[in-house]
Amino acid sequence: MAIKIYIDQGHNRGVNAGAEGFGLYEQDVVWQVGMYLADLLNNTPGYEAKVSRPTIDTVLGYNATTSLAARVADATNWGADYFISIHANASTNPSYNGSEVLIYSNLSQSFPLAEAILQQIVAELGTKNNGVNINPRLYVLRRTAMPSLLVELAFITNPQDAEKLRNNQFDFAQAIYDGIRIELG
Ligand SMILES: [Zn+2]
Repeated sequence: MAIKIYIDQGHNRGVNAGAEGFGLYEQDVVWQVGMYLADLLNNTPGYEAKVSRPTIDTVLGYNATTSLAARVADATNWGADYFISIHANASTNPSYNGSEVLIYSNLSQSFPLAEAILQQIVAELGTKNNGVNINPRLYVLRRTAMPSLLVELAFITNPQDAEKLRNNQFDFAQAIYDGIRIELG
């Protein structure tokens, strides 16, 4: 049985759009990173990946809440073993930078996977390590029955991070992939 990884490219073009910075749009960056990650996993024996947005124009739901619900329902119906939501962080303070992974609780089965993914992003992209943090309020973490995590790749509002989000989209996918392989085999 293959390990089934559901890759949620957070946000849409349109409703539930993400953050913006330096001409970059979160929904477009995370779409591409998710596609690269799905390709890497689907070319690995023992893994199967499904993305929430097969095309960059795929819109899930008709507002923020239904968009999140559609992603969780899709993963559940598919029988995902793990749910990985990909995002870019944003702040009104342009000095805020770095990578972070969010999980529902420190008892989550996804905790070691979250640590492995974060370590690989920091090692391979050179971003600041903002830690694995607990956030039980996030819909995609609290409404998923399978182990889930949310990756904040870097800050789209910080100039150095934004350059990485612009130029190193494959490298972010590779780092997440490497973290998955280190933890899950
Ligand atoms: Zn986001």
